[in-house]
Amino acid sequence: MREAFEKLREKDREITRLGYALATIEWDLETKAPEKGAEERGAELSMLSMMIHDASTAEEMYSAADAIEDADLRNDAERALVRNWRKDLREEKNVPSELVGRIGYLQGAAHAKWVEARKKNDFSLFAPILKDLIDAVREKALLIAPEADPYDTLLDEFEPGMSKAVLDPLFGDLEKELHRLMDEYAPKCAHLDTSFLRRGYDRNGMESFCRYIMEKMGFDFERGTYAESAHPFTTTLGPDDIRITNRFTDEGLFDPIGSVTHETGHALYEQNAALNPEIRGTSLSGGVSMGIHESQSRFWENFMGRTRAFWEFMYPEAQKRFPSLEGISLDEFLLAVNKTEPSAIRVNADELTYSLHIILRYRMEKGIFDGSIKVEDIPSEWNRMSEEIIRYTPKTDSEGCLQDSHWAGGMFGYFPTYALGNLYAAMWREQLIDDLGGEEKLDEVLSSGNFTPITYWQKDNIWYKGGIYLPKDLLFKVTGKSLDMRPFVEYLEEKYSRLYK
Ligand code: ZN
Repeated sequence: MREAFEKLREKDREITRLGYALATIEWDLETKAPEKGAEERGAELSMLSMMIHDASTAEEMYSAADAIEDADLRNDAERALVRNWRKDLREEKNVPSELVGRIGYLQGAAHAKWVEARKKNDFSLFAPILKDLIDAVREKALLIAPEADPYDTLLDEFEPGMSKAVLDPLFGDLEKELHRLMDEYAPKCAHLDTSFLRRGYDRNGMESFCRYIMEKMGFDFERGTYAESAHPFTTTLGPDDIRITNRFTDEGLFDPIGSVTHETGHALYEQNAALNPEIRGTSLSGGVSMGIHESQSRFWENFMGRTRAFWEFMYPEAQKRFPSLEGISLDEFLLAVNKTEPSAIRVNADELTYSLHIILRYRMEKGIFDGSIKVEDIPSEWNRMSEEIIRYTPKTDSEGCLQDSHWAGGMFGYFPTYALGNLYAAMWREQLIDDLGGEEKLDEVLSSGNFTPITYWQKDNIWYKGGIYLPKDLLFKVTGKSLDMRPFVEYLEEKYSRLYK
């Protein structure tokens, strides 16, 4: 019945709109709300979350989804909307609200314990609640898909279609290649002096330079804005209101630059998806998956934003704005911002070693969910694997297994999407080079400072399609290939061999 579809789409728009309202409150809380305002904002957030949950699981959603027939649907966007809702509703039906409530409670409690444990560098404070949370998440995964491996179900939640069967060989090969590259290039970087990146850069100057980069990348300031927050993020408050944040608290020059290219990459995806009338204002305008979203941010942060060509254009501009860069050549600058070394903290890791941090977490999570790693053994296992995979042994649990907040948030199966983002981004880059007619053409575009040939390509191939095609299908539509680590490894090899001879 066509009416059933119309009903579902209308409800989807309402629920998406409630989500925008929720994002508005979150934005306020993260950027401007006074300390004493937080309590009311929190109450509003939980009320809106309940409204979204109730609307998403209302009986009319089930009856609409059941009544829709394939023949009612006119295009891929409509089919995608129904595909997603049927999946969500099936899952919802299988998971009792008691369990949803329990997980919500555990997440809150685990987060508080994690903060304390990290501060005191004592994993044992976090272990009991983490164990309860893992059990509850496993229980949920088994209810969603009783036949499937629970960790596969969790992977699929964040990256549709992803499983251990795909990731095991992929990450296994990637690890070997990254070790090879790290062993070759980390020693060549060891002597580099990067202290000029921390000379104390003027905050206002940084902010205006970051805005300049956003403008150059094509961020639409009539349909978005930016502010400061403790951790940079991107959020969507409406189809014509997509915002990012940045952080200027430390004196590092490249931290806010890396953040602004990253977050603007996310924002461009959503600003442009919303221009497609078939998906505007619906849940499909938020992009297809965490991994594909991350491929858009990393594409700009690293694959474009750390290249010589990009900085051939940007560096004179930076030197004009920051007198401390006087006397630092473009070469020295590029060597410093691309330096690779084994390190403790994932979020500060360089482009080459970053994915090793993810492979470590993937292997930990797999072990936790197949029972081969017990919760109390997480710190020792983490350190052992860190030595083996990253070639770095954490000095404390705070810089080891307690460094990320994901597990305290019950987000198991999320980490792999970061590394997948790198692999997808390299595949986009390879196809873009093909379509532009060669790598020199891409360099010409970047060094000209007019990036529109790149962003038009992204818009046509990726952004405008929003969440219509599942990751695997989108990748195949654009590149004619399936997921492969080769373009990423070749890109790194080429880049590092040119930089560090
Ligand atoms: Zn991101």
